[in-house]
Parts: sequence; C-alpha cells; structure tokens
Amino acid sequence: VALAPGSTIGILGGGQLARMLALAAARIGLKCHIFAPELDSPAFQVSAERTVAGYADEVALKTFAATVDVVTYEFENVPGACVSFLEPLVPVRPNSRALATTQNRIHEKTLANSLGVRTAAFAPVNSLTELRSAVTKIGMPAVLKTNSMGYDGKGQAKLLTVDQIEPAWLVMRDAPSIIEKFVDFACEVSVVAARGLNGTFAAYDVAENIHRDHILHQSIVPARIAEDLKIKAVDVSRRIMEELDYVGVMGVEFFVGHDGLYVNEMAPRVHNSGHWTQDACVVSQFEQHVRAVAGWPLGDPARHSDVVMTNLLGDDIRQWCELAGQSRVGLHIYGKAEARNGRKMGHFNSITPINKG
Ligand code: AMP
Repeated sequence: VALAPGSTIGILGGGQLARMLALAAARIGLKCHIFAPELDSPAFQVSAERTVAGYADEVALKTFAATVDVVTYEFENVPGACVSFLEPLVPVRPNSRALATTQNRIHEKTLANSLGVRTAAFAPVNSLTELRSAVTKIGMPAVLKTNSMGYDGKGQAKLLTVDQIEPAWLVMRDAPSIIEKFVDFACEVSVVAARGLNGTFAAYDVAENIHRDHILHQSIVPARIAEDLKIKAVDVSRRIMEELDYVGVMGVEFFVGHDGLYVNEMAPRVHNSGHWTQDACVVSQFEQHVRAVAGWPLGDPARHSDVVMTNLLGDDIRQWCELAGQSRVGLHIYGKAEARNGRKMGHFNSITPINKG
C-alpha cells in the first residue's frame, strides 16, 4: 500500500510547513499538490501542482481529491468541514477525528487527562458569569484562551487580579473559551513523533523550547531535563497518537513543572520545534510525515548531532548572508516576500558533535 515514487500528495495549506513538506517529498520522488487560498503561498514555489481556492470551495476540493493519492494538512485550523468533505473521496491523514480533537483545547486536555496525564486545571467558559465562577474555583494566576483557532499566544489573556476578569472576557469577544490555571514551569519541552500506517511509532529526541513574546525562539536538543521525564513525555505522546489512530507526525508540547510533566497542547502536523531534525537527523520530520501518510516505512529518528534551532522572525532574516557563511549551520528560508514584524521568515540549525558527557 506504500505510494510509489511519482505519486502525488495533496497538502491543505501553503505556508512554510507545506513548503518544507514538499521539498522533503521531492527528495524521495513524491510530488505535491498544494491547496491554499493565498496567491503568494510559499509552498507554491516548490511544488508540482497548485490549486488556489478557499477551503469551503467544494468544486475545487473535488477536483483536488481526484488528482492526488492522499491528502494531508500543514495547519490545524483547516476547517473540519473541509476534511470531512474530502475523507470519503480520498484517504486523509491524519484523520478527521485527530484534527477535531486537536482543534479544541478542551477536547485535547480531556484526552490527555483520560490517559492519566496531567494538564493545567481548566474549565470551559462561555460567559462572564461562567468566567467569574471558574476563576473562583481554579484560582489565579490563570490564562483565558479561545478554545479553538488560537496560535502563538493569539486570543489569550492572562489573569492576575479580579479586576482583569472583565477586560479579559471582552478580548475573547464571546468566543467559546477555556480558562487554565497558570502552571509555574521550569521549562517547556516538546515531543515530535510519527506513527505509520501500520501503527509503528518513532519519536525524535525531546526538544527544549525557548519562547519570546509567545513565539518559539529556539529549540535546544538534547533538552536539559531528567532522562525519566523524557521517557515519560515520549510514552505519553505515543499513547495519544494510538488513541487517535493517528497517521503522520504530531507535535506534543509539555510544561515541565516543579512536580513533573503537564501536557500543554498537541499539533496534528509537523511542528516548529521539530525543524532541528532537518540538519541533525538523516530523516527529517518533514520526510517522516510524508513517509507516514504515503504508507512508507518510517525513517530512523536517531540524532547524529546536538543542535540548536533558531527562528528568524521579521527583520532577523537580514542576517541571511552572514549565516550562510558559517560552518555547521543549516539555513532555511521560506521565500516570503514581506518581512512583517514577528513573521516567521526562516530558521537556522547550528549543529555540534554529540556531547556524550
Ligand atoms: P499556547 O497557545 O497554549 O501554546 O500558549 C502559548 C504560551 O503561553 C505557552 O507556550 C506558554 O509559554 C504560555 N502558557 C500558555 N498556557 C499556560 C499555562 N496554563 N501556564 C503557564 N504558561 C502558559
């Protein structure tokens, strides 16, 4: 059932993740057809086929489904209806249940808790009254977030004092929301792992993630946390993926609290904290995802180097020439025309020999 070289993978979304998926697919002889609404999608520059259409355009989706061998997606905010429409027409991996679960912070946390893994204490919030009573129950500091469609800290408000409750609720604009107790963490880590069509599982090493202004700044591998926490994080990720009958690469983010691990969120896609695998592993997370959705054997996730991945946001991209001249630096540029403030423009991986000490 493995798709032979020459087959076509359809990707919903045309950003940098789709672009790097398409580049990795090309390395192993697979073509990509990108479906995205934006005319200037970075993935179009490196893909065999494109469709420029909205995710609700059923005529375009039908034609797309007929011309690809499998469909995957590069972001979790693909409308659920789009994936449900495609699923009877063509295999969609990861499946729609995995997408629906990871699109919803409440479902995501409920899943983690059902597997015996802690999350921040949380409560669904749909009105100011509910918010007030949830704060009383959960306590402060807390974070109010929209239940769906949030990323990189967008649609979030921190609550430190009672008088911040009402303004915070206004920020949510009546969107279904979730309040979470603030976890006092020592650091944040993530697991990027893959599950194949036949249920095989392969996890990359745990990454330690440093954020700036809610956006990932660096991933450091190996993570500077205890070995037993790493084993537990990988085990939790495996159980989540099994429970969802997942096929593809998933990113699972954790807080490392002073009393152990908390699941923060899950992304049903390749993940920014897995970009280091492009230069520190033989098979990157992007090729791994392509292999999984194409029914190929998974690649070996072993790391041959220590690595620090640094994102290039906005004007940081001006350093490209200097970075290009450095040794042991893998430079990745996304082909975006405009370097808007905070926009992810590229990243680089600095590798060093594995430190066995
Ligand atoms: P999220 O969009 O849920 O990934 O949140 C973005 C970032 O905000 C996280 O990576 C954390 O640094 C911080 N954050 C979010 N929720 C919490 C929480 N419950 N406790 C502590 N920090 C949080």
